[in-house]
Amino acid sequence: VIEIGQPEHSVVTTCAYCGVGCSFKAEMRGEELVRMVPYKDGKANRGHSCVKGRFAYGYANHKDRILNPMIRESVDEPWKEVSWEEALRFTADKFKGIQAKYGKGALGGITSSRCTNEETFLVQKLIRAGFGNNNVDTCARVCHSPTGYGLKTTFGTSAGTQDFDSVEHTDVVILIGANPTDGHPVFASRLKKRLRQGAKLIVIDPRRIDLVRSPHIEAVAHIPLRPGTNVAVLTSLAHVIVTEGLFDEAFVRERCDWDEFQDWATFVSDPKHSPEAIAEMIGVDAETMRKAARTFATGGNGAIYYGLGVTEHSQGSTTVMAIANLAMATGNIGRPGVGVNPLRGQNNVQGSCDMGSFPHELPGYRHIQDSATRDIFEDIWGVKLDDEPGLRIPNMLDAAVEGTFKGIYIQGEDILQSDPDTKHVAAGLAAMECVVVHDLFLNETANYAHVFLPGSTFLEKDGTFTNAERRINRVRKVMTPLNGFADWEVTQNLARAMGLDWNYTHPSQVMDEIAKTTPSFAKVSYDLLEEKGSVQWPCNDKAPEGTPVMHIDGFVRGKGKFVVTEYVATDERTGPRFPLLLTTGRILSQYNVGAQTRRTENTTWHKEDLLEIHPHDAEQRGIREGDWIRLASRSGETSLRATITDRVAPGVVYTTFHHPGTQANVITTDYTDWATNCPEYKVTAVQVSSSNGP
Ligand code: SF4
Repeated sequence: VIEIGQPEHSVVTTCAYCGVGCSFKAEMRGEELVRMVPYKDGKANRGHSCVKGRFAYGYANHKDRILNPMIRESVDEPWKEVSWEEALRFTADKFKGIQAKYGKGALGGITSSRCTNEETFLVQKLIRAGFGNNNVDTCARVCHSPTGYGLKTTFGTSAGTQDFDSVEHTDVVILIGANPTDGHPVFASRLKKRLRQGAKLIVIDPRRIDLVRSPHIEAVAHIPLRPGTNVAVLTSLAHVIVTEGLFDEAFVRERCDWDEFQDWATFVSDPKHSPEAIAEMIGVDAETMRKAARTFATGGNGAIYYGLGVTEHSQGSTTVMAIANLAMATGNIGRPGVGVNPLRGQNNVQGSCDMGSFPHELPGYRHIQDSATRDIFEDIWGVKLDDEPGLRIPNMLDAAVEGTFKGIYIQGEDILQSDPDTKHVAAGLAAMECVVVHDLFLNETANYAHVFLPGSTFLEKDGTFTNAERRINRVRKVMTPLNGFADWEVTQNLARAMGLDWNYTHPSQVMDEIAKTTPSFAKVSYDLLEEKGSVQWPCNDKAPEGTPVMHIDGFVRGKGKFVVTEYVATDERTGPRFPLLLTTGRILSQYNVGAQTRRTENTTWHKEDLLEIHPHDAEQRGIREGDWIRLASRSGETSLRATITDRVAPGVVYTTFHHPGTQANVITTDYTDWATNCPEYKVTAVQVSSSNGP
């Protein structure tokens, strides 16, 4: 517990939890952090915060933090604490040995959406310039990679279209697959304010989230669809809009490819896509869907906000494109109050994607096979770059099991807990000769590591995070790194040990390199961020002050692209053995797998994950409130307690995944999005039965 006292000075920095990117004043007494005070001039939060940003920073000083590097030859041996110099030499020798024995393609790395833009840029640079390949991927693979694919395909850039202020001009909101009250609380407050002022709300979610009905807010329509049917629902809304002539023809003719629109309109007009035709399959009455479609198309400024309930499906990318189709067809792009807005989960998931963390893209979402882009980096980095796209995380693990991938550098990511098919992840890691984990705590992945490099928290470093509205916020060093080095310095020292001539003395120099090589960041510098507080990319000669709203005069790709989005049912099916569908989400006080929040007092508010089950399903199984239950799927089983609620429909169960004992990824399937390999975490056929305990 940190005693509240009089601070001596304060430092403005950015929250390290969700993609809202709230600014805080860290109030200090010497090197002691006294409290975090929401910063009233922070443009993303304007003086507001939630319980995570305000109170859950105690993990920075938690006793579980590892502060000294550790190595071991084999994972059967105990860890040996060594100096930084010895750990980096050991790692570099292993990596160089692997390159010499198996070739350059046998190494790779994973960047972190928890780390700064500068740190992410350096990790992908190390892999491209040092390892000599493009085997770099990011934890965004398992959350918002379909956003990247879907929005780039339809609009031309992989980012949300609006700033958060835009919600103040919204008349009607579609909220699909997101629960901002728990996941993005400060944005949720702004949305609620607008809804209380009279904006209309349509919720598409299998669960009756709090926004469906809360004080002074009542959704016009709640579509509690069967998990896995997003595309069918969105196509059906489009059917109503097109067949009832509610689309914005002038906008579409001027801004979009008219021929592609016509193909799409013909597709959605097919009677098989009508609400009446799909009502039984999705489990929602047709009239509710017709009402939702008419309200969105005729209600004025229409905005769509979405979360992982859209992306973590076998049709995640298709769903993102279906959302983009709906926004374009109704003319809801290119001005305040409208747009397509992914609510990003992690603090820097936007930034990690922007910084070239995908194996086919250099920073700024430019394809690795674009020779003009490669020339820019080759010139500045002084190396010849491989022009072949590299391996994604699941492909690295496959290659490891097959014996061709031997070493990996993982910064700030616990793939054993967060990635699908835990057994396969473990097999892949176990098959490698050198696994390097760079993190705050000895996480589950570290069980398979040969090197552990201690990480630093957001309080111990300078840098930037980019939030869900493309806002580049400064992260400022509040205290000296407990482990001796900020993460960007560790990556630089590893690069030097590998023989690269890197000489950054401050992350601002990394940002200068990003600006030099990445057109959407061309005008970004620490001086500009000091002057403006924050800026939203693109920030370049065309937009020297940054870009709050995108696609105002035209889409980044030119004409907006309509994509025919055929609904394809997931291969995951219910049946007599597994008759229920499990979906997952978050709770306000906790964050993802809980590595940070569980090491703070926030655990008081949420001690365990619970399984929500409808009263009808509970009664059939003889389950009472608080009973231990066994949750089983085709992949595995686990135990947790039940809570009985009609927030979920009959046939659907729901849980959070903040506590390791829940083992949600033991239950989930290995189906993935067809375009990006994002795992289908949101649909798993399960059975629930009484149990005696864990
Ligand atoms: Fe941090 Fe998100 Fe809460 Fe803001 S809303 S304080 S960014 S967790």
